[in-house]
Amino acid sequence: MTKLASYDDAVANYDPVIGLEVHVELGTQTKMFDAAPNEFGGEPNTLITPVSLGLPGSLPVVNEKAVEYAIKIGLALNCTIAKSCRFARKNYFYPDLTKAFQTSQSDEPIAADGWVDVELDDGTVFRVEIERAHMEEDAGKNTHIGGAEGRIQGATYSLVDYNRAGVPLVEIVTRPLTGVGERAPEVAAKYVQTLRDIFRALDVSPARMERGNVRADVNVSLRESPDAPLGTRTETKNVNSFRAIDRAVRYEIRRQAARLQAGAAVVQETRHWHADSETTSPGREKSDAEDYRYFPEPDLVPVAPDPAWVAEIRASLPELPVEQRRRLREEWQFSDMEMRDVVNADALDLIIETVAAGCPPQAARKWWMGELARHAKDHEQDLHDVAVRASDIAELQGLVDDGSLNDKLARQALAGVLAGEGSPAQVVAARGLKIVSDDGALEAAVDQAIADNPDIVAKIQGGKVQAAGALVGAVMKATRGQADAKRAREIIMEKVSS
Ligand code: ADP
Ligand code: MG
Repeated sequence: MTKLASYDDAVANYDPVIGLEVHVELGTQTKMFDAAPNEFGGEPNTLITPVSLGLPGSLPVVNEKAVEYAIKIGLALNCTIAKSCRFARKNYFYPDLTKAFQTSQSDEPIAADGWVDVELDDGTVFRVEIERAHMEEDAGKNTHIGGAEGRIQGATYSLVDYNRAGVPLVEIVTRPLTGVGERAPEVAAKYVQTLRDIFRALDVSPARMERGNVRADVNVSLRESPDAPLGTRTETKNVNSFRAIDRAVRYEIRRQAARLQAGAAVVQETRHWHADSETTSPGREKSDAEDYRYFPEPDLVPVAPDPAWVAEIRASLPELPVEQRRRLREEWQFSDMEMRDVVNADALDLIIETVAAGCPPQAARKWWMGELARHAKDHEQDLHDVAVRASDIAELQGLVDDGSLNDKLARQALAGVLAGEGSPAQVVAARGLKIVSDDGALEAAVDQAIADNPDIVAKIQGGKVQAAGALVGAVMKATRGQADAKRAREIIMEKVSS
């Protein structure tokens, strides 16, 4: 059993330092160095060319779109774009890499020296410094059959799919992030989420974590105090959900603290992440001077982006998520807290769409954060997969605003939409949902309520006007929620006081 310190003890006794290497797959049509399609989920080994496989004699060509996307990412992260940079061969053997080297960039990245501000749930902002963002290609995918958890240990055979080989990646590497203290896990997760949102805003990647479009290697070390030199780090590879990133940092802090407290050293190594047990286990030992024998790729010319092109890309950058949130919060008159809840619930794009379809912002927020969030939770669904369109919500709210539906009827109409009965107007027509405000029908219900509740009538007549609420409630119940509550109250007051 691995010994763990309690988290509180660990961060009371040591200062955690983290560093993140984030890989993002670019959403180009073709691969980084060849014309094979860059698609997810094809039959194994169908999305390949001789270049993807590195067959002898095949020659790579740089994908211009991928360079453009890398520059976009670099600019959005406040990096300097290199006037000229080169690709390099990173030599290692693994079956998912037929060439026995990965075409990457080492000392000449396309972008370097940037930063990004990361806002935590309580509004605290940490600035994360970016060391570099470089271009490279993805490797293929190994599938090990017969071992536990799909691991190679205990497997009887392995399969390799090269469809992913050569998919364009940008790797973004932070400088060691100090001064985060006990908030290290939260900062790590939020940083990756911030990047994910930027990738989506830039439209350079589908950036779906669950598909592995974005993957993080999480470096963690501890030191005695904030002025001590950096401690020895571990690097937990390929962590691909925000929660897992938080948990991986937390686990390593506890594990390393227990070792240091016992007088043992932390071993510099890569580690595997286990999502089921939320633990890490040793991978391979890794020194800083690990010899990949990098050397400039002789088959590719340097990439020297024309400064005019870089200026054009800079001018065409879209509004970034932080700026957009600030602007919308003002336009929509949301409180800081309301905006943060929306962002944390990943509902911002849904509300933007609903508002664009004509719904007032606060009403859109209430639908998505209330009724629809509950529905999603009950059905263990992502909010984005709930069977309703933004335009349905705008239409529904329109029916509330023009007085056709009250809140209760609107919720019934929504239930109909969610059950696949059609648009809000269709559900309202088919289920006969409408407010009863015609006085004849209301008066009968009011008379009945008055006859059934003489004690309440007496209270109202004695001056306790608020007791009328109980009679309104009785009328609502008798009309199965379809009464116009305001009109019902007026009629009650007229009748009781006459
Ligand atoms: P490697 O080739 O080992 O992956 P990189 O330079 O690509 O090295 O990335 C190392 C990452 O670890 C960077 O994000 C860096 O900031 C971070 N890092 C370096 N030293 C430490 C340390 N002592 N503690 C925590 N993170 C560190
Ligand atoms: Mg690295």
